[in-house]
Amino acid sequence: MKKHNFYAGPSILPQYTIENTAKALHDFAGMGLSLMEISHRSKQFIAVVEEAQALFKELLNIPEGYSVIFLGGGASTQFCMVPYNLFKKKAAYLNTGAWSKKAIKEAKIFGEVEIVATSEDKNFNYIPKDFTIPANADYFHITTNNTIFGTEILHDIDSPVPVVADMSSDIFSRPIDVSKYAIIYGGAQKNLAPAGVTFVVVKHDVLGKVDRDIPTMLNYQTHIDKGSMFNTPPVVPIFAALQTLKWLKEKGGVAEMEKINIKKSEMLYDEIDRNKLFKATVPDPADRSRMNVCFVMNEGYEAHEKAFNEFATERGMIGIKGHRDVGGFRASLYNALPLESVEALVKVMQEFEHTI
Ligand SMILES: *Cc1c(COP(=O)(O)O)cnc(C)c1O
Repeated sequence: MKKHNFYAGPSILPQYTIENTAKALHDFAGMGLSLMEISHRSKQFIAVVEEAQALFKELLNIPEGYSVIFLGGGASTQFCMVPYNLFKKKAAYLNTGAWSKKAIKEAKIFGEVEIVATSEDKNFNYIPKDFTIPANADYFHITTNNTIFGTEILHDIDSPVPVVADMSSDIFSRPIDVSKYAIIYGGAQKNLAPAGVTFVVVKHDVLGKVDRDIPTMLNYQTHIDKGSMFNTPPVVPIFAALQTLKWLKEKGGVAEMEKINIKKSEMLYDEIDRNKLFKATVPDPADRSRMNVCFVMNEGYEAHEKAFNEFATERGMIGIKGHRDVGGFRASLYNALPLESVEALVKVMQEFEHTI
């Protein structure tokens, strides 16, 4: 039976990425050696890193004055690395979910954190709209896509202070205006590569402004200066990321991805809104994530939750169980998920409706 992979992360990757990485695990760049057993300083691997950085810049249309670096530690390490490098007196954060809260917790170690708005009152099922970013903050932090709660900020925010964005789960899903951000970071395991590599896009002119000593490994400048080669970078995930970037380019880049992502997510939300059994957890269509579609059983049908999970699993739908903080279901529709998988899920939802 065909499996449809709706896991939230690690998650579906292009077949192209998996096949090319598998080949390189046997023979990398014609060296007769595995990608796992070559020096990260070999010219063949340096070429991989450089091509990945160049493609990253090309696909996101990153202007001059920014570097792309590949690190270990996951997005979670960025929660402290951002304040280490940028926090002077005060930082502003938008609280839109579990990942925002974790970022806020780390920032508080460094001093005053102003929460400009929060959607915690409704279990993070919307994006706060009317808020003012304090002009005296050192930076403003947002989580563009809330992987757990299924909300997404789909526009680039105008801010009087540098914007730092956790884009772990929506990077490369749509075009963004990078010039509106000071730092964009994320773990690669949602939309780009297997777990193990973290991407960071850094604007040079926001660095070098804090007085504290920054541990060498947590200083962005270290990794910019050494081209992500200060220490051993995650070789295999970086190689895989390059394959995904090549695949993205060949598919028409982020503008084309956005069209497909709109189509896929609308198809699923339309079915959730139509089907009497289900209800989207995010009421306002403008706030609904295109990457992580969260839904629960509608009022009166709660008792059928377990049965639907089994029904769908038996038909090849993998990873649709919702996060424990939301319950119900979550279907993640990352770039590599084909439209046919959404069609298959919609069909299963309709078939299940007929059994009730
Ligand atoms: C998954 C996720 C993280 C955590 O990433 P790690 O690489 O596991 O540290 C952070 N932020 C968002 C939005 C995520 O989806």
